[in-house]
This record gives sequence, C-alpha cells and structure tokens, in this order.
Amino acid sequence: MLTLVEARSILTRSSGYLKSVCSHSLNPYRGCSLGRSLCGVACYVQHNRFLTQGRPWGSFLEGKSNAGSLYLAEIGRERRRGPVSIFMSSATDPFPPQERTTGITRSVLEAMVHQPPDLLIVQTHSDLVSEYTQLLLQLPTRVHISIESDRDRLPGLPAPACSVAKRMEAGRTLRRAGLMTVACLSPLIPIREPEPFFERLKESFDAVILDHFVGGDGTSNGTRTRVTAFPAAIESVQPGASRLEYLHQMVGVARRHFPGRVGVGPEGFAARWLK
Ligand code: SF4
Repeated sequence: MLTLVEARSILTRSSGYLKSVCSHSLNPYRGCSLGRSLCGVACYVQHNRFLTQGRPWGSFLEGKSNAGSLYLAEIGRERRRGPVSIFMSSATDPFPPQERTTGITRSVLEAMVHQPPDLLIVQTHSDLVSEYTQLLLQLPTRVHISIESDRDRLPGLPAPACSVAKRMEAGRTLRRAGLMTVACLSPLIPIREPEPFFERLKESFDAVILDHFVGGDGTSNGTRTRVTAFPAAIESVQPGASRLEYLHQMVGVARRHFPGRVGVGPEGFAARWLK
C-alpha cells in the first residue's frame, strides 16, 4: 500500500472552511491507510476525485519523502506574506502506522523546530501522536484528536483503526505534558452515555469541537455522506441522530462540562475561544 514519492510542494494555502481555521494545510501523505476503518466510511476526502484518481479510499498511501526539506524551502516565502498557521492534516492522517517506518511526519516536525510556524494544529485519529510529545512541545502546537463518540463500533461498519480508549489515553499523555488538546466529535456518532462521556473527556482534553455530517462534509445538507452507509448506521443505534437536532442536543451537554470551550461546526475548528 505504501509508496514513496517526491512532492513538488508541501504548504497549501487554505481554501473553503479551512480558511477560517488556518492560513495553510500540510499533508505529509497522500491517501490514508486508515481509510478502510470506521472513520473512512464518512471521510469527506474520499470524494476528492483529483486526489483518489479512481482508487478506492484506504487502498493507497503515498509518503512525501521530501516533506521536511520542502517545508524549509517554502516557509520563509510564506512567512513574508503574513503569519503562517498550519493545519496538519486536512486530507490524510499525519500518524498512520506506516509513519513508524517512514518518519515523514517526524521529519516535518523536526524541520518546524528550526523554523516554526506561528501555530500548528495537529489533527489525528491515531494514538501514535503521543509518541511525538517532546517534538510537539517545542512548537506552538494544539493537538486535535478525533473521538466521535464513546462507541467503538457501529453495526455493519468496520472497526476503528485506534480504539476510543487509546485515543483518550493519548490525549491525557499530551495534556499532562503541557500541550493544549482538543477532542473532535466529528462527524458526531451517537453517544451511548453523554454525561459520563463528556465528564471523562475533561481528563484528556482542554476543549471539544462537535460537528455533524450535515453541514460538516463540505455540502450544506450532507449529500456526500448520505451516499455512504454512515447515516443508516447511526440511525440504527439512535433514531434521529442523522438530523442536526441531535448535534444541538449534544452541544447542550458538552457546554455543561466544557463551559466556554465548545466549538460547533466546521468553523469551530478555528477554536478562537481557546486562549
Ligand atoms: S484518518 Fe482522517 S483522512 Fe484518514 S480516513 Fe480517517 S477521517 Fe479520513
């Protein structure tokens, strides 16, 4: 599945909803080896035909072997245009299992230590991120870990690549080390026990962001996700969960546990309330 490629560039100026979050995105890989797990079912990146070129989502992973040197070559030019805040990553996971052997994300972080951006937002579904704590502490980092629910499984859908418990533990490790951590319930999966779940999240995270596939998958009414098995699966465990009202209900619970620290919808990822 893994191939190594030489990329032509690494820092991409943000567009779409990401513009309100960060000035740039950085994807150390193309494709995602977590794509055949639970998160891949509703992953909006799979609909990017330019990126997939017809390949099934989760079937390919291209590591950009020159990512670290490209960052150093590009960061000076981008900084001359204004502050640089980087979202890593918007179209892949920066910590796939293959990262252990390629070290590509590590090379990017090491390059950033030499020439830091103004802000780095790390977005991942993997507990591997906690092994990078010492590197991340040297950067102006905020770590977002996707934890869509307290459920690990949905009927008829694949298992997650990394269990909820492992992701909670990664958040706890990072937070105890002094990093700002955010749990991203995106796209929201029905929560079995909302009050205890948000209470537990407080041990591992400074804030939460909740997002629904309706309005969160790049279409206003969730059209992209409606062609997948995701809406029926969440309806089967919680009737009504495929409607936005369910998001509003859970936001109400989240606000009781994280007062002033709840982001909602795609713009919530900017987390400007986190100071
Ligand atoms: S880890 Fe992220 S990019 Fe990869 S399949 Fe899951 S949601 Fe998509």
